[in-house]
Amino acid sequence: MNRKAEPRVLCSRCILPGTFPGISFDEEGVCNYCRREESALSRYSEKKAAQLLKMDHLIRSVQGRASGYDLIMAYSGGKDSSYTLKLLRERYGVRILALTFDNHFVSTRSWENIHKVVDALGLDHLTFRPGWPVMKALFSLTAARDIFPRPTLLRASSICTACIGLVKSITLKVALELSIPLVAFGWSPGQAPLQSGIMKNNPSFVRENQRSFKGALPDALAGLLEPCFLPASYYEGYKDRFPYNIHPLAFFDYREEAIRKELESLGWVPPEDTDTNSTNCLLNALANEEHQKRHGFHPYVQEIAGMVRQGVMTREEGLAKIYPPQDPAQVAWARKKLELIPEIQ
Ligand SMILES: [Zn+2]
Repeated sequence: MNRKAEPRVLCSRCILPGTFPGISFDEEGVCNYCRREESALSRYSEKKAAQLLKMDHLIRSVQGRASGYDLIMAYSGGKDSSYTLKLLRERYGVRILALTFDNHFVSTRSWENIHKVVDALGLDHLTFRPGWPVMKALFSLTAARDIFPRPTLLRASSICTACIGLVKSITLKVALELSIPLVAFGWSPGQAPLQSGIMKNNPSFVRENQRSFKGALPDALAGLLEPCFLPASYYEGYKDRFPYNIHPLAFFDYREEAIRKELESLGWVPPEDTDTNSTNCLLNALANEEHQKRHGFHPYVQEIAGMVRQGVMTREEGLAKIYPPQDPAQVAWARKKLELIPEIQ
């Protein structure tokens, strides 16, 4: 017997709402997404341990081979990517290049954190900051409408999908140009499935992804963003250099409190001007609000529900991240910067 899905009904286990696409609830109030994952979750710790061994092996096998860096990290300065950097540096001692994509919305506190963390870990650091007109055009467009395929909307807002698409592309481009064999991301255990935690980039797959990303953008904007994408010649010329992507947080114990403590030892301080789901980005509150208005569910709910299911976050912690309204001042600030409404007096 399925209870009718209603907007205010939440799964009694994972916090997904009745407005989430394709959801239904059984007589215990548990959603079909939770039921579907039950058997996979019962083998979860075993699979995590196996993936961790695989990552240890992969890192050891490439370490020291390249003349420069062993690994490039897409480094936002947020809690998860800062912790990932610390783990990689301390566990493996790899030579890391940290790359920050400056989307013009990185909080001031986050910049301080970025510099403290890379200095404490003794890392080299690059920043890539696309020009404001192109970022303003991209974020204004994605704030107003959904331009990417429907499945992406279940995982993230259009604004986030656009920004992360550029982060992935520019990080891969630098990895290819500098012959770096590993690309690391700080995805949380709810953001990407365990089995994708170690994945070799396939040139045809990357080409197809880039084609569809560019195809979703108006031609003029795609043209302006061209420097962020891979030139056609790389697929053939660099085909033997395509790196592995890893996201280590899928394999380690993930406890937010413990992570924050470890980061404090590097001088990292939580920003006070970001929303409940970001520790670096001042655009996220607006991105969340627009997504909720258009789709009736929070763009982070799938990620957070996944972490609640895995037991890395309590249900109460999950609810506190997803269900309070966005801070109107943060939303208004981002709108004003993007000139989406007349200047606020
Ligand atoms: Zn559920």
